Amino acid sequence: MESNKDNHEFDFPEALLVKETELFRDCTNIVVGKGNASADILFVGEAPGRNEDLEGLPFVGAAGKNLDKLLEKVGLSLEDIYVANILKCRPPENRDPTPEEIKAHTPWLLKQIKEMKPKVVCSLGNYSTKFFLAGGDVGLMNEQPGITSIHGKAREIEIKGVSFKLIPLFHPAAIIYNRTKLTPLWEEDMEIVKRVISQEKLF
Ligand code: URA
Repeated sequence: MESNKDNHEFDFPEALLVKETELFRDCTNIVVGKGNASADILFVGEAPGRNEDLEGLPFVGAAGKNLDKLLEKVGLSLEDIYVANILKCRPPENRDPTPEEIKAHTPWLLKQIKEMKPKVVCSLGNYSTKFFLAGGDVGLMNEQPGITSIHGKAREIEIKGVSFKLIPLFHPAAIIYNRTKLTPLWEEDMEIVKRVISQEKLF
């Protein structure tokens, strides 16, 4: 399959920051996002894995299959949401993102949020949640609470002039390993997401 790395669509400043990282040099594809870019809900995961890197799309591997199932359970599809990641390129061996990588890759994500204007951003797992709770200040990410204590709790976030409601959710990959306990919590949290969206429609 052809790589999208030379695509001229990706010549804007935020993409050039990504292209200066080693992750870009080593990846097969830039993984921008998938789903409905006009939807009210944006899901933000951590980083592309091997399958995502090969296909150029987020959440197409095991975590993605689980995300599809979890969405179906609450009556949603890719028509109702858009999905992106903190990092646009796969870290080697799926290692954790470094602070420098997060700094270089998230301006593109914030540009996407500015353009999409979602009512709700659902951060999937710890990295994504801590990035948003820290107001985009990567140096403050370590001080943020973990997903277990704040999942499902909505709050208003403003990052670099972009405002939205953040609702942290468990990462679909974590749910695979703890299905019995986490699936009901995910379903409850998604009811909160749906309630927030429908309340906003009243005004
Ligand atoms: N996990 C993520 O956080 N994002 C993906 O795109 C795939 C797996």
